[in-house]
Amino acid sequence: MNKAGKLSSDASEKGDLRMPAKVDMDKIVSLCKRRGLVFPSSEIYGGLASCWDYGPMGVELKRNVRDAWWKAIVHERDDVVGLDTSIMMHPGVWAASGHIDSFTDPLVECKSCHLRWRADAIEGKGCPKCGGELTEPRMFNLMFKTSMGPVEEEASTIYLRPETAQGIFVNFDNVITTSRKKLPLGIAQIGKSFRNEITTGNFIFRTREFEHMELEYFVKPGTDEKWLDYWVKERFDWYVKLGIRKENLRLRQHGKDELAHYARDCYDIDYLFPMGWSELEGIANRGDFDLIQHAKHSGKELGYYDAEADEKYVPYVIEPSAGVDRSVLAFLIDAYDEEEIEGEKRTLLHLHRDLAPIKVAVLPLSRNEKLTPLAKEVFNKLCPNFVTDYDDSQSIGRRYRRQDEIGTPFCVTIDFESLEDKQVTIRERDSLAQIRVPIEELDKILEAKLKGEAFDASPLWATREK
Ligand SMILES: [Zn+2]
Repeated sequence: MNKAGKLSSDASEKGDLRMPAKVDMDKIVSLCKRRGLVFPSSEIYGGLASCWDYGPMGVELKRNVRDAWWKAIVHERDDVVGLDTSIMMHPGVWAASGHIDSFTDPLVECKSCHLRWRADAIEGKGCPKCGGELTEPRMFNLMFKTSMGPVEEEASTIYLRPETAQGIFVNFDNVITTSRKKLPLGIAQIGKSFRNEITTGNFIFRTREFEHMELEYFVKPGTDEKWLDYWVKERFDWYVKLGIRKENLRLRQHGKDELAHYARDCYDIDYLFPMGWSELEGIANRGDFDLIQHAKHSGKELGYYDAEADEKYVPYVIEPSAGVDRSVLAFLIDAYDEEEIEGEKRTLLHLHRDLAPIKVAVLPLSRNEKLTPLAKEVFNKLCPNFVTDYDDSQSIGRRYRRQDEIGTPFCVTIDFESLEDKQVTIRERDSLAQIRVPIEELDKILEAKLKGEAFDASPLWATREK
């Protein structure tokens, strides 16, 4: 696991310096648009309901969230391997998994305004919009249907996957026989999933196309409860390590009546979003449901032979299942801050350095023909090692504000003195502390800071930003 959580410059440990996350969603949506994080999809055509596009900064942030998950789940462990399976799968998969029969929501339609609602999500008898009479509920399957093949009449109906998990289950045998690993063994996958939700909303929280990060962790029956507890803790700690304040997270065990058809037990990690506590991630004990179902429907044996104990069994599976998009949203909301510096408002994202879209911004004091060559030289030196931005437009103050708003941890400023002494100033986002360092050592210093070394602004050579 990542040791970075212990270091003092972690955003999470600065929680007490920050304002509580009482930011409304409009501020987040507006910042995302203004700074190129998230745009409405197909905007020049008026947009498409609940579809969003990640802009130049958003794509970096999202990639960093994925990478942080993959690093913690796959690379820093020897009991988990990765997988990337096809979005389109044999239709038999969804019959076996129960999605064709059970992946449904009760749908009602208003007889006057024809808006559609999820029957279990509305209060009262009438249409929430106009009060009109509603139809009897009918079960609506949430899978997107399409057809495969060039001749429509002969084409077979297939579905866009509503979760990545099934791609893992149907490859269980392939992975077990090729990976030379023993149980417990996890198989992890990140990829797009599709759910034709009746109601969507709250920005990128609930969308019909979204990205899943799922781990199926296969264990010996009887050890499943222990592993469920283990993964609930691991996953909770992951969010905290990456800067989400503990008080904005909670664990909630599902009641027996709300467990999915496959689950023996389940916990949600909820986050305090602006619309209230909502699910960030679910961690379920799926028992042997999936492997047994796929064995039955495919006719292939799906089990595990434990050579040491000379016994054969069908493993149980613990599944931590998270959404990339809603994680991105939670990280943004928790990082959002407004403060006043010498009478001026500063908006900033206290994003964890591993998540920040840009790690270092190279900012010459002004666009000047004497400064530009050295500033470019510094940029070229840094950009192979860190995601680096170069910006020489507008005043230095406005450029700092821009970097603060996208959560850039470090700005490197090149001034006229730099031409003489070959030193530059590093400015830290949260504390606004500055240190002056030789260009020759800049790489090494930034690398250490980005790994979590404290930003030790010694009073002799550090000054607060003016
Ligand atoms: Zn209505």
